[in-house]
Amino acid sequence: MSEMTSAYNGTLMNSQSTFQISTIFLLFSLFFLQPCVAKAEEPMAWRIRDIASAPVDVVQLRDKRDRVIASMATKQLLLIYSAMVAIQEVAEINAELFVVDGKEPNAFATVGKDDQNVIGFTFGMLALIGMDVDAAAGIIGHELAHLKLDHMKERKKAIENSSRTTFTAASSKYTRDNERESDYLGAIWALEAGYDPAGAVRVHEKLYKISKRQVGFSGSHPSSIERLTILKSLVRRLSK
Ligand SMILES: [Zn+2]
Repeated sequence: MSEMTSAYNGTLMNSQSTFQISTIFLLFSLFFLQPCVAKAEEPMAWRIRDIASAPVDVVQLRDKRDRVIASMATKQLLLIYSAMVAIQEVAEINAELFVVDGKEPNAFATVGKDDQNVIGFTFGMLALIGMDVDAAAGIIGHELAHLKLDHMKERKKAIENSSRTTFTAASSKYTRDNERESDYLGAIWALEAGYDPAGAVRVHEKLYKISKRQVGFSGSHPSSIERLTILKSLVRRLSK
């Protein structure tokens, strides 16, 4: 993973307020995310730790050509980043957290070229979560569990074994068992780290509604009514 450019430019937008906009272009190469797709377009990614620590209220994310791709509230990313730190400690596993361009609400976990664990949230997922830190904690717990339980390896094997057929959306998904294990462990870690495990239910309810509305919606962690039911009963048991 290579850091391409790095710059902070604080500009005072309005002299009557302390509101500041910063341009930040910390673009990372996340090409390894889709190793099976030969001509995949390289997704743009920015490290959440960098954005969260920017000394401004809003950070503009720019592409290589310096075009503004999105504006992010540092307050939201700071909340998410602190949940990440707390859950990593409970889970005893480390990962770097990224925001990745993409309107579809999705999150993923993967291992980088240099064996670094990576978790990504798309713009769509950040919009879906908003300031619901318990929801963020649920997603982070879930993704860290995929890494801790080495589900990537199982997924790769399944893809290799699929007799070199085209890499389909279906084969890019984790198995249902993997999802269930990660939901379980993720909820426990979120709770241990001091977050409400019901946050995970809230996210999945929203994702489920979107998947019903949009034909062809395919996150890498599909929400289904079965999954929601299991997750809800788990949270009920944990909350007792
Ligand atoms: Zn998953």
